Amino acid sequence: MNSFTYTRADDVAIAVREVAADGAAKFIAGGTNLIDLMKENVMRPSRLVDISRLALREIHPRADSGLRLGALAKNTDVAYNEEIERRYPLLSKAILAGASPQLRNMATVGGNLMQRTRCCYFYDTATPCNKREPGTGCSAIAGFNRAHAILGTSGYCIASHPSDMCVALAALEAVVRVTGSVGERAINFAEFHRLPGDTPNIDTNLRGDEIITGVDLPAKGFAEHHSYLKVRDRASYAFALVSVAAALEMDDDTIKEARLAVGGVAHKPWRDQQAENLLNGQSASRENFQRVAEALLRDAKGYGHNSFKIELAKVAIVRALSQAAFREGHS
Ligand SMILES: Cc1cc2nc3c(=O)[nH]c(=O)nc-3n(C[C@H](O)[C@H](O)[C@H](O)COP(=O)(O)OP(=O)(O)OC[C@H]3O[C@@H](n4cnc5c(N)ncnc54)[C@H](O)[C@@H]3O)c2cc1C
Ligand code: SF4
Repeated sequence: MNSFTYTRADDVAIAVREVAADGAAKFIAGGTNLIDLMKENVMRPSRLVDISRLALREIHPRADSGLRLGALAKNTDVAYNEEIERRYPLLSKAILAGASPQLRNMATVGGNLMQRTRCCYFYDTATPCNKREPGTGCSAIAGFNRAHAILGTSGYCIASHPSDMCVALAALEAVVRVTGSVGERAINFAEFHRLPGDTPNIDTNLRGDEIITGVDLPAKGFAEHHSYLKVRDRASYAFALVSVAAALEMDDDTIKEARLAVGGVAHKPWRDQQAENLLNGQSASRENFQRVAEALLRDAKGYGHNSFKIELAKVAIVRALSQAAFREGHS
């Protein structure tokens, strides 16, 4: 049993001060990930700073015609928000593809961004894991790695990022707003999560004393042509083997702009703008979609159990792009 102290913060400044004062302190929001990790002895914070009552639950319009999601807005409230459903249906669908209604009622925007990998060795404290205990090794590389990454991996960690919501936010080019001891800053979504490199214990570029206060959605929501396709072992309540957020701006049959983010394949939602650009100015055709899928997976590497993901990701990309372009039924 690990003892810890618990405090509830009344405002953002107090929350930041509490966490800055203790390197082993953690914020707790919905608790749907952190509590599990504490029960499994994977995370052992000395102090929990409860941020669930901070006034960060609102979803409101921004001057640039975008929307701000408060960091404590519940996943359910975001997914069923009228403006999100109308202007950012890609985000709504990605959130609803994840977890269960009960979990989404508790889970928050900030917590979703910060949730940790579902690598089974990360959860099993009897096994070596560089993410949990730096320097101990990676059990997954030569172990059971069916759910693991095929892009951007390192010799230290091949874990994949588990979020659905983050895949849509990557495609929408959201911006993460944070506040810390030295003030506020904005982090482009592409720079928020990190690749494992030789420090897989560090998931994101959020500093230890910083809190996420919100996520900004740019005005462009790709409501006309989008798809969130999630491939998983069960039809619900399962993490993605591969997921694809596809967003297109079309002029008749011609693609003016393409955004593609892939989940379940890397330590962060995977974007490859070089591959995406192959679609700009091209017609929406299966051949062109296949070309992009091949380009995006060109450096993919399988580790045995997860090698099937390379083909799976290509097929999923082609299907998601077809759904987005031709407004075919989503799944
Ligand atoms: C059985 C199960 C199935 C699931 N399936 C899916 C799925 O299919 N797809 C999917 O995307 N997710 C899935 N999830 C994950 C779920 O979405 C996350 O647990 C949830 O989003 C975490 O949010 P939370 O508010 O509960 O975070 P918490 O558990 O409270 O916190 C998680 C982490 O985030 C940090 N944190 C929280 N808020 C902030 C903030 N504002 N600033 C800085 N740090 C913060 C905490 O310190 C902690 O380290 C599943 C979870 C479970 C338990
Ligand atoms: S893949 Fe990463 S999280 Fe999983 S055992 Fe290896 S180091 Fe740990």
